[in-house]
Amino acid sequence: MGLCMAKTDKDKKVYKNGFNLFEAYPIQFSEKVETVPYDEPAEAFNFPFPDKNIAHIMVNLCPTEPWALPHVRITENNPREFFSKLDRVRTRYFGGSHCHAVISSHEIDLIKEVKEFTWHGDWLHTYLLDPIYPHDAPVLLLKKILGLHLAYGQDTRETGVLILEPQAVAEIFEHYIRGNECSTRLIPLSGTGLGENKILKVKPGTPIQAILDGNVRENITCRVFVDGPLNGSEVKDMRQRIGWTTKNIVILEERDYKTPFSFFRLNELVFTTSLMGELRRCVYCNHCDDMCPVNLEPALYWQCHTRGEKQRARLYGLEKCIECGLCSFICPSKLELLQIIKECKLADSGSRLKDETDYKKI
Ligand code: SF4
Ligand code: SF4
Repeated sequence: MGLCMAKTDKDKKVYKNGFNLFEAYPIQFSEKVETVPYDEPAEAFNFPFPDKNIAHIMVNLCPTEPWALPHVRITENNPREFFSKLDRVRTRYFGGSHCHAVISSHEIDLIKEVKEFTWHGDWLHTYLLDPIYPHDAPVLLLKKILGLHLAYGQDTRETGVLILEPQAVAEIFEHYIRGNECSTRLIPLSGTGLGENKILKVKPGTPIQAILDGNVRENITCRVFVDGPLNGSEVKDMRQRIGWTTKNIVILEERDYKTPFSFFRLNELVFTTSLMGELRRCVYCNHCDDMCPVNLEPALYWQCHTRGEKQRARLYGLEKCIECGLCSFICPSKLELLQIIKECKLADSGSRLKDETDYKKI
């Protein structure tokens, strides 16, 4: 086993090439795990084992989103047991592939403990990462940890890498190796629309409405997001069901006021969910440029879009965008940059501009 020191950014300001969401939006979950009642049988657990050879398994123990499941809820403060399960899973199903565990650079105790796993031999490699969003995105992780270049949206398994969330490791172990029925998973529920942030034990197949009942504050209007408000999806139909890949639910209260320029005061940088009035123009503040983890200039996509020239956005490295949503999050004009980016990506590539000098006319 080798402890590889990936580059840490401790001394740098977080407001560059990513963002420390834990500082801006700290979330405390209740200690007790509550079970959501649902009488129907759970959706059957069936892990989609890849048919390609997997040379590397990557496990992320450094979530960068505060609404993600804290990994201690899976390792249960017993990382030795967790890595032992991982070892059994990789030898039984993945031909003894190498495992790469990414650990938060803030977790000194976990790092020390993992160092002591000498009994594991050399199959486990650990890396330290600062919990800066979205540095745990697959494209960035594969580049940083393994030096592999992945296109956004490309399946990591095509490059022989399987990214397993910690909960999936535990589920595969319980279901396939121990032979226990797997019928629930932990879903963190958080946001300004709740009285308390909770970790829930939920049967996959449960409608989201059953999860909201009794948890959302009374007499408020709110919006519900699955897998995060930055790059997840908004739930429009509360009959939508939780699945085995659902990671979290965030409920945000609709507000009827704005906090002006909250990005100057990180402790006031809360999520707002509506535009509250007319769209403002881009004010060329460059905050989106500063934030973008892959060094794009999102304001350019806004310009292309508003001029009705979506296909021109490709001239500005659009394909490198990993759709993390940070640009939308920070934009003081509340421009829906990620939505615009997605629309530009869908613009007719047949009419793509081939002459790069064209962009100078914009
Ligand atoms: S342009 Fe893409 S990668 Fe850059 S911050 Fe916006 S969504 Fe993220
Ligand atoms: S953050 Fe918004 S207002 Fe500032 S440059 Fe980017 S698009 Fe324009």
